[in-house]
Amino acid sequence: MRILISGGGVAGLTLAYWLRRRGMEPVVVERSPHGRLGGYGIDFFGSGYDVATRMGIIDRLEARPLPVDSVDFLDAAGRPTARLTPALLDRIMRGPHIALMHTTLEEALLDAVRDDVEIRFGRSLSEVRQSESAVDVTFDDGGRESFDLLVGADGIHSRTRELVFGAEAAYARYLGVHLASYPIKDRYGWGRVRAHYTEPGRQAVVYPSGEPGQLVALLLFTTQDTRPAPRERRFEVLRDRFAGMGWITPSLLEEAPESFFMDVMAQIVMPAWHRGRVALAGDACGCMTMVSAQGVSMAMAGAYVLAEELSREGGHERAFRGYQARMLPEVARRQRNALVFARSLVPETPAGVRTQRLLSKVIMRNAFAAVLRRQFGVDSVLPRGEE
Ligand SMILES: Cc1cc2nc3c(=O)[nH]c(=O)nc-3n(C[C@H](O)[C@H](O)[C@H](O)COP(=O)(O)OP(=O)(O)OC[C@H]3O[C@@H](n4cnc5c(N)ncnc54)[C@H](O)[C@@H]3O)c2cc1C
Repeated sequence: MRILISGGGVAGLTLAYWLRRRGMEPVVVERSPHGRLGGYGIDFFGSGYDVATRMGIIDRLEARPLPVDSVDFLDAAGRPTARLTPALLDRIMRGPHIALMHTTLEEALLDAVRDDVEIRFGRSLSEVRQSESAVDVTFDDGGRESFDLLVGADGIHSRTRELVFGAEAAYARYLGVHLASYPIKDRYGWGRVRAHYTEPGRQAVVYPSGEPGQLVALLLFTTQDTRPAPRERRFEVLRDRFAGMGWITPSLLEEAPESFFMDVMAQIVMPAWHRGRVALAGDACGCMTMVSAQGVSMAMAGAYVLAEELSREGGHERAFRGYQARMLPEVARRQRNALVFARSLVPETPAGVRTQRLLSKVIMRNAFAAVLRRQFGVDSVLPRGEE
């Protein structure tokens, strides 16, 4: 079976790996001209950790953790008012977990498939037509080809979803926050800490990237826009939204590179993840936002489960239904949990910021580990011991 995967990110590459392992023939088209650069840190545990273990890449990931020992929430003077310690994190997770750069994971996934799977970089879909027996696609260079199935693993703003299921607005739950992230030089003598500083309507986060002398800046701000600013206006938007902010924010802005990642914070909520010979995977159908800290894990779990279902007897319709039945309720539960936190992530008023500081102080305690564990739903969705 020849299966086209649109998107060579976490979901797409994991799916390619498992389809190949199960005897199918995946072809990946990835919009960027090369493996992506830059990136942001991710927490990695549960289902993602299990899938990475089964792929044999976990040692490589474990060897490149982010040098972060604690997450600090700062007051206006830059002093920590609450701290998520490794001991508390252990109690919440009750299982292996690592913090990584997203690119570390993508590189490992790419290396796991590059010798066995055809990957076409710098390519995107422009048209999709389905018939009884095939999916006929047109690429952005005008080339046409037929595949047995198509999987859209092309992220939150999925092109496949747009072409087959309709416009993003029908499925996006916009959360009123945009985020920007970029690497900066460590001119502060930064320690092994991830620090969060919040003012009404904006938040600055800084942590080490793992590259010597380099940090990552993450800036979040409230807005009702449903699209990120175009690349050429991004710096201007940040400068306006973060003007006058305390802590080290002015120097974070000074360090902004010419081009950087910026996006809306949104969840993708869909009643069905497949139509005919086309299915969606990862953020394309189930984005939960960074607040869930499980987008990567669920993207990998979904890809694993989809490949498993497709390898069984019974045809693609049964496989797609099985995949959706196993994954959609798990994703929906995590989306509901993340929504509670996402809505209060960047308070808009001084009173809201004070309440957030107080709540983080109360909740970052051992006594609340079980609550946090339940709230996030950190367990793996994969059956134990199975491959
Ligand atoms: C700041 C931030 C922090 C996060 N923190 C965490 C965390 O702590 N833990 C966690 O698990 N998750 C986290 N996430 C979420 C996680 O990054 C995503 O859920 C995950 O990357 C989804 O994987 P994906 O493969 O579905 O999509 P993506 O990683 O977005 O990959 C999609 C791929 O498709 C490609 N593509 C896009 N359009 C096209 C097209 N038209 N044609 C071909 N290719 C295309 C893209 O270039 C990309 O390679 C975070 C996200 C952000 C933004």
